Amino acid sequence: LSQRFGFIGLGAMGYPMATQLRRKLPTTTVLVIYDLNTTALENFSQENNAFGPIQIATCSKEVCDLADCIITIVPEGTHVRAVYLTPETGLLATNTTGKVFIESSTIDRGTSLEIGKAVASSDYNPSNPPNFVDIPVSGGTAGAEKGILTFMAGAAEEEPIFPLLREICLLMGSSVYPCGARGLGIAAKLSNNYLSGLIALATSEAMNIGMRCGLDPKVLSNCFATSSGGSWVNSTVNPVPGVCPDAVTSRGYEGGFKVQLMKKDMSLAVETAKQVGAKLVLADAGLGAYTAASEDPKCRDRDSRVVYRWLGGHEPE
Ligand code: NAD
Repeated sequence: LSQRFGFIGLGAMGYPMATQLRRKLPTTTVLVIYDLNTTALENFSQENNAFGPIQIATCSKEVCDLADCIITIVPEGTHVRAVYLTPETGLLATNTTGKVFIESSTIDRGTSLEIGKAVASSDYNPSNPPNFVDIPVSGGTAGAEKGILTFMAGAAEEEPIFPLLREICLLMGSSVYPCGARGLGIAAKLSNNYLSGLIALATSEAMNIGMRCGLDPKVLSNCFATSSGGSWVNSTVNPVPGVCPDAVTSRGYEGGFKVQLMKKDMSLAVETAKQVGAKLVLADAGLGAYTAASEDPKCRDRDSRVVYRWLGGHEPE
């Protein structure tokens, strides 16, 4: 493992991921952090400095100067571009010899491949080139806090770098899938989120039908769980408040995976489907629901399973 790690993007996902990293890395390893949000940097440093050295960088370039392995997780393609490509202050504004870049944001494949090319043409010593890999994550903020995320790596298992990537990801998660090649980690993640968004919408509609007939929501969810309608969404983050007492859906949908992010991922998946000629019949309904919920003041900025509220589902007191 590298002696110097870098982490850029201490948001809803990045903060608990970097926390896991700091707590599991050897106490001698330095963790260099950077975010536009200085409060997040200060809080992180205060909460975690007992577990090993933490250095706050003043820009992404400084992270690249001070670390050998750098993880980035920011909202959208434009932010990833800013982190990597900004002249003077971006990651690639300095020498990248031997650096490993793990990009975990959920963005479009085109941007990810383009950044990979920019890394390959950055300034480095050809005897020790840098490596850029798309490794998006799934499992939500709760999975990040527990260190049980799933990582989808845009790399092949046979690549010499893969064992290192797996070792790093397992500090923050419990599953790492080699998806085959650059860009395919993103393809796996977008396919997953398209499915997860539709399942949450379908579960919300189905819960609503049963509850309006008079069923208790917990009984209904238990019926689904061991029947053909069961799913991860149903059992761990059921959209109906109170069904999963520890889930974000039982805390007013505060935190979690914002509905705007689900809209972003659904539209990235639909765009990808167009590019590769995959026929979609559910996309209009799914994307339409998440777009409308994103714009609804009752739902905006809340966890994406708030789509149940947007549908007018009954919420127990
Ligand atoms: P977030 O908005 O909570 O956090 C993003 C962080 O990035 C913020 O702290 C912001 O200040 C920082 N940032 C933005 N631009 C920056 C820049 N140029 N330089 C430095 N820092 C910058 O977002 P999030 O929920 O953590 O999501 C991040 C990514 O992870 C997204 O692509 C999202 O789709 C994906 N994701 C989120 C979840 C989830 O449950 N929230 C789950 C899986 C994947």
